[in-house]
Amino acid sequence: RRDSVNHHSLAVIPGDGIGHEVVSEALRVLQHVQQISGRFQLDVQHFDWSCQYYLRHGRMMPEDGLSTLSGFEAIFLGAVGFPTVPDHVSLWGLLLPIRRGFDQYVNLRPVKILQGIESPLRRYKAGDINFVVVRENTEGEYSNIGGALRPGTPDEVVIQNSVFTRKGTERVMRWAFELARTSRKRLTAATKSNGLNYSMPFWDEVFRQVGREYPDVDQSLYHVDALASYFVTRPESFDVVVASNLFGDILTDLGGAIQGGLGLAASANINPDRRFPSMFEPVHGSAPDIAGKNIANPVAQLWTAKLMLDHLGYPEEGQWILDAIEATLLAGIKTPDLGGTATTHSFTDAVLSRLPA
Ligand code: ATP
Ligand code: MG
Repeated sequence: RRDSVNHHSLAVIPGDGIGHEVVSEALRVLQHVQQISGRFQLDVQHFDWSCQYYLRHGRMMPEDGLSTLSGFEAIFLGAVGFPTVPDHVSLWGLLLPIRRGFDQYVNLRPVKILQGIESPLRRYKAGDINFVVVRENTEGEYSNIGGALRPGTPDEVVIQNSVFTRKGTERVMRWAFELARTSRKRLTAATKSNGLNYSMPFWDEVFRQVGREYPDVDQSLYHVDALASYFVTRPESFDVVVASNLFGDILTDLGGAIQGGLGLAASANINPDRRFPSMFEPVHGSAPDIAGKNIANPVAQLWTAKLMLDHLGYPEEGQWILDAIEATLLAGIKTPDLGGTATTHSFTDAVLSRLPA
């Protein structure tokens, strides 16, 4: 099998806080999987871009950071953030330039109760909830367009614009429909066309129009407030959920909560046309409160590694990782956030020992 090893260039950005701890553990697992598989090799290069880098250099990454990254096929990121650095610095100095500069218009977040995990929705057991949220990741409500009139006066008016383009809306819808087609053939869109009377009717129109190309996919459209309640009352009914940037942001936090917490929530920022690298990062941040203590839950980062292998064309190998995570959790091995006593490192050792030999 050795003669057909595919090389994939991977930029690794551990970032700050627990990002370092969970990324190094995930790389151990990836290296092991690559050895067992024999089908691929990740050519890894590390970058220390982070809030620590910002505190030394006054920026989150070098001026040519994006063009450096553009030479890679994928980016594996831990988390960026530090108590003395404002959130907008790490967001606008690193995360958003990467997501937008590389046109990563799909943010994919699985919502699934893993084996061994107790959901706060007690009546649901492992596997009962198993869906993905496709969040539009480049436009919509997070547009940075707006401003204040008569600031500071009693007559102040503040405006925040949303931007929905036909191209931007169509492409994320189409991606979600294609995904639903390979899954349980059900796509649900989050809307709010009863309250937002320009953007969301347009969103609905594009959903219906693209949907005509997918008569084999069951299609429904719910107002986001109702949809949020259905995430709690009947989460088993979802397969693929497509949402705008803001609604997807909110729904995926709810999704993370019903699947058992931030320590488990994985995410992928995908540039589907593969002109640019895609970026794989867990939902959680740098968690300074638990950083450096070897107690961070590595599951979110490990699951994120699985999403990366899916994207690179190795879904079978990706599944090994998720299966080994579930076998570990089922054996009662858990980090403190899940009520266990395992360390970040010992949990990962247990995962490694459960990979195929
Ligand atoms: P940032 O400023 O980088 O966003 P944050 O303080 O907002 O960091 P998050 O990582 O988003 O922190 O998560 C909030 C809390 O959830 C953390 O303080 C931590 O206690 C907990 N948490 C997050 N991720 C994990 C994890 N992987 N393992 C254990 N606990 C976690
Ligand atoms: Mg935060």
